[in-house]
Amino acid sequence: AKTNGRNNYQFYDQAMDQEADKRLMLETGMRKALEREEFRIYYQPKVDMVSGRVTAMEALLRWEHPELGMLPPSSFISLAEETGLIFPIGEWVLRHACLQNRAWQDQGLAPVRVAVNLSGYQLQHKGLIATVRKILEETGLDPMYLELEVTETVVMQNPDFAVAILNELRGLGIHISIDDFGTGYSSLAHLKRFSVNTLKIDKSFVREVDINSTDAAIATAIIAMGNSLNLKVIAEGVENEGQFSFLRENKCDEMQGYLFSKPVPPQEAAKLLRGEGLK
Ligand code: C2E
Ligand code: CA
Ligand code: CA
Ligand code: CA
Repeated sequence: AKTNGRNNYQFYDQAMDQEADKRLMLETGMRKALEREEFRIYYQPKVDMVSGRVTAMEALLRWEHPELGMLPPSSFISLAEETGLIFPIGEWVLRHACLQNRAWQDQGLAPVRVAVNLSGYQLQHKGLIATVRKILEETGLDPMYLELEVTETVVMQNPDFAVAILNELRGLGIHISIDDFGTGYSSLAHLKRFSVNTLKIDKSFVREVDINSTDAAIATAIIAMGNSLNLKVIAEGVENEGQFSFLRENKCDEMQGYLFSKPVPPQEAAKLLRGEGLK
């Protein structure tokens, strides 16, 4: 048992070393990934419940790592935040999403918003408003076709600050959504002060919305809250007909999820905008 314990420690040490190695490799690689153009944006449609039309395309970041393949944001966003690389990377996403949307509009596709996720670090960054303005000017995208998604948790970490910055962004004519709604404990009193357009019901409540009465109660409460405050409500993570029917019957405004489309590269997203291949 003794030797076993010792081996376990050695194994643990090795595993820790491997973790540290991987982290270092990712960090060094991430510094170069921007200039090497290894980041990709996938787009996932948001769909209007009544018309069935696409209202927005959410930009979801991927990193095409030369050795590790296509990496999801969960494997590198927190490292980007710790190293400060989230600022240049976030700006890259914003610029490229706006450029892409402008290109779609120039191709004559029906105009939709492009929705970009903002990290809490970006929201707190002093230069955010200037950066957003600059990119809108550079790309010539009408602000009404840009949407920014901020999570409820980030907003609730400092509600007074969030109210100020979100109001300023709204003042530019941009659409604001509160992402992962239901997980961050906003009260109606807080919500009333936020000048936002949309609440996005977190997918953890959507997963069993049609079979779990607690999740159903939370989802319907968010929809009622949205209605009373004149906000749109969208559900994310909609994967099946049961969830879809429940949300339609309970008058959720929009939906997003694998039932309609997974996140896809720009070429395929353009097809969805032409109405091809959307469920
Ligand atoms: P999120 O903004 O809540 O995005 C929703 C996530 O759920 C996405 O994962 C999406 O691919 C996934 N998803 C979409 N439909 C379904 C579905 O029907 N079922 C299930 N189970 N999942 C679905 P993804 O692309 O891996 O992104 C994860 C998170 O990474 C995002 O969560 C967002 O917080 C963050 N993220 C993505 N892109 C960016 C970015 O450019 N900047 C920042 N700061 N964060 C980003
Ligand atoms: Ca999001
Ligand atoms: Ca979300
Ligand atoms: Ca999430």
